[in-house]
Amino acid sequence: MRSQQTASNSLVKQINKSIVFETIKTKGPISRAQISKETGLNKATVSTMVSELIKASFVQEIGEGKSSGGRKPVMLYFNPHVGYSIGIDLGVNYILGVLTDLGGNMVEEITIKLESTEFTVVVSQLQAVIESLMNKAPESPYGIVGIGIGVPGQVDPHDTILFAPNLQWKNVNLKQILENRFHIPIVVENEANAGAHGEQLYGAGKNIKNQVYVSIGIGIGTGIIINHQLYKGSSGISGEMGHFTIDANGQKCSCGSQGCWELYASEKALLASAEKEKIATSVDLDFLYEEAKEENPKVLNLLHTLGENIGIGLVNIINTFNPGVIIIGNRIAKFEHWIINPIQRILDERLSIYHRENTEIRFSALGIDSIALGVNSFTIANFFRKHKVQMGVE
Ligand SMILES: [Zn+2]
Repeated sequence: MRSQQTASNSLVKQINKSIVFETIKTKGPISRAQISKETGLNKATVSTMVSELIKASFVQEIGEGKSSGGRKPVMLYFNPHVGYSIGIDLGVNYILGVLTDLGGNMVEEITIKLESTEFTVVVSQLQAVIESLMNKAPESPYGIVGIGIGVPGQVDPHDTILFAPNLQWKNVNLKQILENRFHIPIVVENEANAGAHGEQLYGAGKNIKNQVYVSIGIGIGTGIIINHQLYKGSSGISGEMGHFTIDANGQKCSCGSQGCWELYASEKALLASAEKEKIATSVDLDFLYEEAKEENPKVLNLLHTLGENIGIGLVNIINTFNPGVIIIGNRIAKFEHWIINPIQRILDERLSIYHRENTEIRFSALGIDSIALGVNSFTIANFFRKHKVQMGVE
């Protein structure tokens, strides 16, 4: 009985501390009296929790606030520089890494091209990016608190990468390898889930209850937010909508199926059609972007077809989820100007008016950083949970 009571007391304390911390984080600078008023917690409890947060360096005191007479109150604010975190977007042909403070504010960003998709080569390039970001981190009480990696593949609840078709990886434990190397907690998450979370927290999905993030890079992944929470499915691998069939007898896909959406509506599809059209001897996304700006008619035509093919997949997603917003992210998002009209036209033609009116198409607000920032926020949340100043899943 006594141990049950102790456990429940410590849970109440953790909840109170989390509430006080969250209030300071979102509403600071704020005084103790204001926190008490905001949260309904009594002043003594607020005072105790604030002392613990100050001791842990999460909260600092600054100057004095306004007073309606009498002694001016001391104001409290969240100290984001108490530690730093690293987020990595591991693409099929690039690595993008960010270093942020614990408020999620960007300190440094690095992008490199991947030399090959062979696992050992990728791991060594990944380690080099992480080391270089670590070296850029300013001195802080907690140092680097975690590293998050967003990967284009299915990830199980223990962070094992089960299958990444475009990298041709099966059953690899990247988390273990990096933890052994850096001795820092590592989170591995599907890139589209990370992007969906990033946009929900900081970007185009803010305050949107039901949102589907469509990550269009070499392949297509989707991250589903229902009631502001990431929906991961019963074994963590939902959202593989890049592999739903849009052509029953279509091309063979690296996933084993055929006619998958991503074969017609991704960066891979765009590059393949550019090659077929013999647009240049060597084409990449940057080249096509420049040509589109120059209004090269062949390139505009390819982008038009790409937009239509993206639209066809979005029709299926909207019919399934009835989301408030669909966010198109990752590298194809920068072609918004040329693909938005064909996308909208396909939606107009193929959706019922009730679906059409209720879903807005947006492009990523965080641009190419949504995946890295999203997975980074998971590691920050894990750190605060470990220090008992945050509850549940962020
Ligand atoms: Zn497929």
